[in-house]
Amino acid sequence: VEQRVADQRTATGDDPPTQEYPRTPRTRLRRLPERGTYDRATVHAILDEGFLCHVGFQVDDRPYVLPTGYARVGETLYLHGSSGSRLGLRPGTDVCVTVTLLDALVLARSAFHHSMSYRSVMVFGRVRAVTDPREKDAALRAVVEHIVPGRSQAARGGNRREVAATAVLALDLEEVSAKIRATTPPIDEDEDYDLPVWAGLLPLRQVPGAPVPDPRLLPGVEVPAHVTGWRRPAPAKEGPLTAPEGAA
Ligand SMILES: Cc1cc2nc3c(=O)[nH]c(=O)nc-3n(C[C@H](O)[C@H](O)[C@H](O)COP(=O)(O)OP(=O)(O)OC[C@H]3O[C@@H](n4cnc5c(N)ncnc54)[C@H](O)[C@@H]3O)c2cc1C
Repeated sequence: VEQRVADQRTATGDDPPTQEYPRTPRTRLRRLPERGTYDRATVHAILDEGFLCHVGFQVDDRPYVLPTGYARVGETLYLHGSSGSRLGLRPGTDVCVTVTLLDALVLARSAFHHSMSYRSVMVFGRVRAVTDPREKDAALRAVVEHIVPGRSQAARGGNRREVAATAVLALDLEEVSAKIRATTPPIDEDEDYDLPVWAGLLPLRQVPGAPVPDPRLLPGVEVPAHVTGWRRPAPAKEGPLTAPEGAA
């Protein structure tokens, strides 16, 4: 995991690896703080490998946690959804966004010491509505590209009605923490190492199955390379996506 993170640090190239997010009272890790990091490049690498986040927020004194897609562009996370959705209706809302990558199940000799190897990020902040047409277009393309690189070139872009029906929210990466449980063996009680119980790691990866063509596909339309070649982690980004000149 550390090697992968180190590789991605050099691959992202957005910021010098020494640069860190400031620790705040909210982001200071109290539980197992040695697993925490505020390193920007590490945070970026986790955000760029994941594509599902959970957005926690409060409405009428009740908590909601919404799973949704996202994309990172520089120091901004873009979220999108229906304009009529609970979150889409509430720009200015305080949120807590998490992104989790599950790397392995850690199977210990005792039930108590079972664990998971993971890399996760938590972001606190206030979402703002993206209304500028160029930023909105770039953000929507970034979300598509983030999930399936190459797809935004292949698919028809959103028309005026579709774009209007889609709320785009931006969350600046300012109050951020990451936590990493490395892919290291379980830690059992000394006396349990004598038990004849299998212990170790069960690594997990996100791998695609075989593409299933839509029955209404036009004859002769082949599966494109961005589908057959889809993999996670995705190849390093070239840089922030921007809307083409003249895009609305
Ligand atoms: C896949 C997975 C499985 C987990 N399983 C368990 C479990 O079974 N039981 C359990 O207790 N915990 C589990 N954790 C850890 C859990 O996410 C919390 O870190 C832990 O419960 C401590 O929470 P806390 O609010 O008391 O931490 P605190 O240390 O008090 O949190 C303070 C601040 O530290 C940062 N922080 C805390 N946790 C994380 C995190 N995971 N990622 C990024 N920043 C973080 C946040 O900024 C947070 O506001 C798991 C995490 C992952 C990703």
